[in-house]
Amino acid sequence: MKEFDALVIGAGMGGMATAALWAKRGKSVKVLESHYSSGGCAGYFKRREGIYDAGATTLSGLKKGRPTQRLIEELDLDVRLFPCDPGMIIHRKNSIFTFHKDLTKLINEIRNEFNLDLSKEVQEWLIIEEKLWYSLQAARPIQMLSADHLFKLLTGGSLSLALKPQIFFKSFFDFLPKKARENEDFIRCLDQILMISTQQTSKTCPAFMGILGFLYPLDTYAIDGGMYGLCKSLEKKILEYGGSIDFRNPCLFISEHQNAFVVESKKEVYKAHHLILNISPEQFNKIYKSGFSIEQENDEIWGALTAYFAVKTKEPIQGCYHQVHTKKGSLFFSLSHTEDNLRKSDYQMITVSTHIDKKDFSESNKDETYYNKKNKFEELVTSKFKEAFSQYGIEEIKFDSVGTPKTFEFYTSRPEGEVGGLVHNSLWSLTRLLPNQYRKKNIFHTGDYSFPGQGIVSVFQSAFNTL
Ligand SMILES: Cc1cc2nc3c(=O)[nH]c(=O)nc-3n(C[C@H](O)[C@H](O)[C@H](O)COP(=O)(O)OP(=O)(O)OC[C@H]3O[C@@H](n4cnc5c(N)ncnc54)[C@H](O)[C@@H]3O)c2cc1C
Repeated sequence: MKEFDALVIGAGMGGMATAALWAKRGKSVKVLESHYSSGGCAGYFKRREGIYDAGATTLSGLKKGRPTQRLIEELDLDVRLFPCDPGMIIHRKNSIFTFHKDLTKLINEIRNEFNLDLSKEVQEWLIIEEKLWYSLQAARPIQMLSADHLFKLLTGGSLSLALKPQIFFKSFFDFLPKKARENEDFIRCLDQILMISTQQTSKTCPAFMGILGFLYPLDTYAIDGGMYGLCKSLEKKILEYGGSIDFRNPCLFISEHQNAFVVESKKEVYKAHHLILNISPEQFNKIYKSGFSIEQENDEIWGALTAYFAVKTKEPIQGCYHQVHTKKGSLFFSLSHTEDNLRKSDYQMITVSTHIDKKDFSESNKDETYYNKKNKFEELVTSKFKEAFSQYGIEEIKFDSVGTPKTFEFYTSRPEGEVGGLVHNSLWSLTRLLPNQYRKKNIFHTGDYSFPGQGIVSVFQSAFNTL
């Protein structure tokens, strides 16, 4: 049996970031991944036209001191980033709202588009946002809060946050000034922005999440090669620091023996002193055979519907992130950056995503209804694309495929294809997240089922927390 300090189950962003950080600290680390490539929900797949992002496309948390920036610095990751300005371009029914990174321009855009002056509020939200990010560095799941963390929380940014308790207990909608609440057009647009960043709308989203979510486009970046670029740079670091990754090698059973874990995978059996889980609690419970289980109340997780296609246009389409509003909600179009070098291609590669209920595609994938629904989505995506981007002179659309919750379940093993992470609908929902370590066991969690939750940036913070 090969022996390791730590065995990481899953090479999602959480598993890989954690493996690299532990390996850098001199631990012998092995990552087991069931799929043939890394990234999980933030993975990629290759086609003749180029490389597609499979799920996640935007990178955030790159301002100084934020988790993604700290990870890149700590691991000296070899990634080329493109700051996205505008952070997002929103195609509304009859107009375009540009989410500029420059504050004055953004405030003017809100004023012109919605006849709404939010200059004072946006400035205030920016200050709160900075403090919330600072607190995140000290914040830990309750089980892991030490006196030192508590001191940092209270003496750092969050003391002034404590003086604004309403941001934790009010919904973002109720926190907004009356003039914004009464502006239906603004609320409709805000809700779609929040769906991307917080996975909920202003009325269900606590104000502190709403502030972070609304300002998310101010800190968005594209990456050379898309998620393929990020995955490859993380893989490289794991190997450079002496760790290793096994692809197509799912972990099947785990048991405990003489204070160590015995991990049976498809290819081999390993012994490990620490177990790092990048998988769902439900999955862990199925494979762990030594009388310990993890419970998590997790009914509020979305499914995703995605579409992938490559385009040729007369002029390259500008802006990586476009949200196109539809009758029922919105579609998020992510385009490869015009200067993307790693994905050198004659095409711009496009990933489209939208939220759906996990149960929406619950019929068998051999069922005709399943195929009809997929076809309908393909039609919607291509027609909306043509409407929104016709000015670039569309020459060719090479449609690849539609991804449903079943597709995500197949490639990531997430139950029913649930993706993104638990939805935070109150301050207390943070306590539903799995701790990054169990006190009495050398079992760790990383990824969006664990604290602090959703999205790549939080997943990177969870990797730091395991240290
Ligand atoms: C469509 C979509 C769009 C998104 N957009 C964004 C975005 O733009 N920006 C953003 O920040 N976030 C986005 N997200 C969310 C983000 O992708 C996820 O929160 C994050 O990638 C989760 O990473 P993870 O490491 O927690 O888990 P996962 O990505 O689920 O990784 C878990 C890994 O474990 C592997 N695995 C499972 N079981 C086993 C086993 N038994 N043995 C070995 N390996 C196993 C899986 O194959 C997988 O690779 C999006 C998600 C989706 C689905």
